[in-house]
Amino acid sequence: MTEKPCIICVAITGSVPMKADNPAVPTTVEEQIESTHEAFEAGAAICHAHVRNDDETPSSDPEKFARLKEGLEKHCPGMIIQFSTGGRSGAGKERGGHLPLRPDMASLSVGSNNFPTRVYENPPDLVEWLASEMLTYDVKPEIEAFDLSHIHHAALMHRQGKLADYPYVQFVMGVKNAMPVDRPTFDFYIETMKRLLPNSEWCAAGIGKDQITVNEWTVPAGGHARCGLEDNIRLDKNTLAPSNAALVKRVVEICDKHERPVATWQQARDILGLKQPA
Ligand SMILES: [Zn+2]
Repeated sequence: MTEKPCIICVAITGSVPMKADNPAVPTTVEEQIESTHEAFEAGAAICHAHVRNDDETPSSDPEKFARLKEGLEKHCPGMIIQFSTGGRSGAGKERGGHLPLRPDMASLSVGSNNFPTRVYENPPDLVEWLASEMLTYDVKPEIEAFDLSHIHHAALMHRQGKLADYPYVQFVMGVKNAMPVDRPTFDFYIETMKRLLPNSEWCAAGIGKDQITVNEWTVPAGGHARCGLEDNIRLDKNTLAPSNAALVKRVVEICDKHERPVATWQQARDILGLKQPA
């Protein structure tokens, strides 16, 4: 049993799943706000968001991110807003074009790796630029660790003053051609966090059918949990998830099973060192 509240992050949209895969994937800003609101009521404290064009392809349009932020602030007051700076949301510096909007957080990949059909390129100069923009605009990065070396690199950037206290690190497992969902590796990630970033919190995302597996490992291990339709569109092999909220509810049930409280947005802000809204 862990007393520390568990922060649930809902990754509502992403850049891959289409409505043809699961009609519940929210792709317009209006749908995103509605889907996030339902997930927020179910217990999510962080919304990780990408935006889409009208044809559902990924967009890097800061105006769209601004409309989403405004809607979330209105309908999910207090919820932590995290924008993606991932590689499908534009090229090069376009990926950080929304940082001047000052979302609470933004994802930050600090190294490259393979994705299902391509290289996920995060060259050193772009990583450094995104990190410096996040310092400038007071945006807390969530380091996406697709590989063990990414935890080491985050610790190095922290020592160099390029990441503010205390870096928040997410283990990402289950992306084809990157790190699989592997328990000994997961445990070693935790051990590495304790050794290199002892004051930091960590979370974990399982991609695809193993989302629930990683959620089940994370809650009793004291980490924070990510779910949502970006990563996984199914409840089980034969059933599409009807909403983002349905995936959040599964994590809430795991927390209940382990007698771990679910973090309110206020608690989540305290745990992550984010300011409370005025
Ligand atoms: Zn994402």
